[in-house]
Amino acid sequence: MTKINENFAKLPGSYLFAEIARRTETYQQAHPDAKLIKLGIGDVTQPLIPAVVEAMHEAVDEQTSSDTFKGYGPYEGYDFLREAIAKNDFRARGVDISPDEIFVSDGAKSDCGNIGDIFSRDNKVAVCDPVYPVYVDSNAIEGRAGEYDPSAEAWTNLVYMPTTAENDFCPALPDTDVDLIYLCSPNNPTGTALNVEQLQRWVDYANDHDAIIMFDAAYERFITEDNLPHSIYEIPGAKTCAIEFRSFSKTAGFTGMRCGYTVIPRELERQGQSLNSLWMRRQSTKFNGASYIIQKGAAAIYTPEGARQIREVIDFYLNNARIIKEGLESAGLHVYGAVNSPYIWCKTPNGMGSWDFFNKLLKEANVITTPGAGFGPAGEGYIRLTAFGGADATREAVERIKKIL
Ligand code: PLP
Repeated sequence: MTKINENFAKLPGSYLFAEIARRTETYQQAHPDAKLIKLGIGDVTQPLIPAVVEAMHEAVDEQTSSDTFKGYGPYEGYDFLREAIAKNDFRARGVDISPDEIFVSDGAKSDCGNIGDIFSRDNKVAVCDPVYPVYVDSNAIEGRAGEYDPSAEAWTNLVYMPTTAENDFCPALPDTDVDLIYLCSPNNPTGTALNVEQLQRWVDYANDHDAIIMFDAAYERFITEDNLPHSIYEIPGAKTCAIEFRSFSKTAGFTGMRCGYTVIPRELERQGQSLNSLWMRRQSTKFNGASYIIQKGAAAIYTPEGARQIREVIDFYLNNARIIKEGLESAGLHVYGAVNSPYIWCKTPNGMGSWDFFNKLLKEANVITTPGAGFGPAGEGYIRLTAFGGADATREAVERIKKIL
């Protein structure tokens, strides 16, 4: 008899965004005239920049001639893109990462979810709370999370590290030994970024404990403050303890195009094995490379014109973030994030539950947000708003929220 992976049956039912969609749909059906503004899901809305579109058109044209046609590409990505990444994302910031340490993929979600393939099930995993749900669910599917305890809204075998205003959104080092540590900076959902000293503490911990940090830098381009690290490899010692994930999704509007990359330094070894080689083995077995056309488009963001154009789009989103932050603060709310991130993490007023505040904003302001509790128990008492909407819709949403508070 075929047996399924029993871990799937342990996953808690309704996925956060499905529940938000359900509540939104129910409300819209009951109030067909309501003009809802969606600041919930973190998807981009601005079109691709011209430099990317032009590069992809050229790449499509190449497919029309047998001289330039491309079939299967390298599992780890084309050299033109890996070289552009190494030069612009790392060497330009004084970080020595070489192209053969970079693996191009169809996005950071796949890589964050798949990386567990190269690690034993026996590893103890630590995640921030609140957290991007992919780290938790992928470890649960692979059998590292134990059982789901609905009363605690937590997995029995995961170490949850509260990441809240009380600890300046930097999790404390765990008091039990952990092996795999997921950190995300700038963070989804809190919108906050770790500084050099905070990250150095984690790098030192990981090296001392032979642990590995999974560093998700999907929002690195949104950092505006000087002196904040954009890559974990800016921290001395990180190359022997960290894997970094990056994405073109929010950087270049690639949520629908699909492209990202993972960095695994040559020095990174455990039990005498190179993690770079293991990941290459994993990718060449289960992945046939990202699309040539999409990689051509991604490489265009590293041209002077492309770099200028994506900067404009990111600044557009950051301006939305500023408008939301200032508007909510003027309404008396405590607001975090927004400065180095497209996410705004807002404390609910008067200790209100996060689903209650979500409902209030939906029903009274017709604005859709994301309840913080959906990202983990420590997200209770917060909501997340995103800066990915249009400028007018964002302004209007802020005015409506101010009016009802
Ligand atoms: N990592 C974080 C923290 C994210 O918020 C997201 C997307 O929302 C991703 C990774 C996924 O990125 P991609 O679109 O490249 O799969």
